[in-house]
Amino acid sequence: MAIFGNDHRLVIVGAGFCGATIAYKVASELDLPVLVLDRRGHVGGNSYSKFDDETGIEYHQYGSHLFHTSNEAVWKFITQFSSFNNYRHRVFSRRHGKTYTIPINLMTINQFFGTDFDPAGARAFIAQQAAAENIEAPRNFEEKAVSQIGRPLYEAFIKGYTAKQWATDPAALPAEIISRLPVRFGFNDFYFGDLYEGLPTAGYSAIFDKILGHPKIKVVTGCDYFDVRGTIDPQVLSVYTGPLDRYFDYKFGELGWRTLDFEIERLDVEDFQGAAVVNYADIDVPFTRIHEFKHLHPERRHGNKTLIMREYSRFARRADEPYYPIGRQDDKRRYSQYKKLAEAEANVIFAGRLGTYRYLDMHQAIGAALNLYEKKVAPLLTGRCVKSDGPESDDLQRQSSPSLVPAKNAGVDEVTELRPRARSDR
Ligand code: FAD
Ligand code: UDP
Repeated sequence: MAIFGNDHRLVIVGAGFCGATIAYKVASELDLPVLVLDRRGHVGGNSYSKFDDETGIEYHQYGSHLFHTSNEAVWKFITQFSSFNNYRHRVFSRRHGKTYTIPINLMTINQFFGTDFDPAGARAFIAQQAAAENIEAPRNFEEKAVSQIGRPLYEAFIKGYTAKQWATDPAALPAEIISRLPVRFGFNDFYFGDLYEGLPTAGYSAIFDKILGHPKIKVVTGCDYFDVRGTIDPQVLSVYTGPLDRYFDYKFGELGWRTLDFEIERLDVEDFQGAAVVNYADIDVPFTRIHEFKHLHPERRHGNKTLIMREYSRFARRADEPYYPIGRQDDKRRYSQYKKLAEAEANVIFAGRLGTYRYLDMHQAIGAALNLYEKKVAPLLTGRCVKSDGPESDDLQRQSSPSLVPAKNAGVDEVTELRPRARSDR
């Protein structure tokens, strides 16, 4: 029984940025009807936000979501639906009762070591500490971090936070994770270094309402794809942005995901912590960070109350929302098994953070979706190509990368990356 009718030409599972972007492109450029399903009671995926009834403050239900990109195509796409404020993200880290700036920069180094280095002095000092570790070819997160910043900074700001955030010994984590965080030898303490950064002035949900409000798009929320799969014509093309392992009923076992628990508190104080995000580096503090959302919108008038959200991280079980792919060795092995199955699946394209088991930020999810539309979805729907394909390939991912790297904007001060590309290309 076709409970959603038969007129749609594409079914999209998941109303996050990936699914919404593809739906909009198909509806607006190909003028074809699209059905979007989401098991949650709202659209927007993890980027969903809402305005709190009591305080009037907009909060991001799944943790602070900072929009930043150097990809012109992504910026052009998203700014069709919203203007952005000029917020630039700064993060602080609490450790042993003191507050430092993160990512590690010249101020953090001088404050932590009680020194007054200039950039060259700090660089030489940290290089000496890193060299003492004697690691030539780092094999995991911990080795990579200490080989770049030395042990004292690693133990102070990275080790405890990471063990809490990933619920995994940092020595068992892939080195790529730490590569997301730069270390700088100047005073630049902006978290990102992209050409464009800001928060949508009317909120993320207003963006999704506009994108998915296209007349050719039908959205059904509170609907789990696996409950209705049998009613969907298998000849109709689908884009699946849910968890890859769930799609195949965990045939090869579960991929490692991290889930989060959020605890909201409304306080009768105007400003609780003075910044949108403060990380807690000490292992004996159970949460990883506190979000205070009013700071994301300095252009808005907020009252004298505030809303904060503590974030706790733990290993995901099947019933939990999977948020972060962990990517240990056995996960990588399982992923390649699932990828083979996905490639053989007729009429289904696997996409997005969950469907490709990748750590994608919003701009990367949108960038990959725009690529996927051009390279696979549109050709399949218009008959320009008959190939049915599996998960979004590495090739597609790479094609979206060059434009994600900012021209030279990361070089406001000296940046030594803990990874091949700067944080700004996240
Ligand atoms: P999602 O947004 O996860 O959407 C997938 C959707 O699929 C979900 O709504 C889910 O309910 C639905 N779904 C899954 N299974 C089914 C099913 N069986 N049936 C129906 N629907 C299903 N990015 C940034 O750029 N900046 C940030 O600051 C940032 N901070 C983040 C903080 C946290 C805590 C997290 C978890 C992520 C953060 N991200 C950030 C990443 C951002 O959330 C992702 O890039 C983005 O959500 C990816 O979009 P997506 O469409 O791939 O996936
Ligand atoms: N990280 C850390 N201390 C911090 C901030 C980050 O150890 O104060 C590590 C942590 O392992 C994290 C990684 O750096 O997963 C990348 O940081 P990012 O802010 O990108 O992580 P996210 O919040 O997106 O998980």
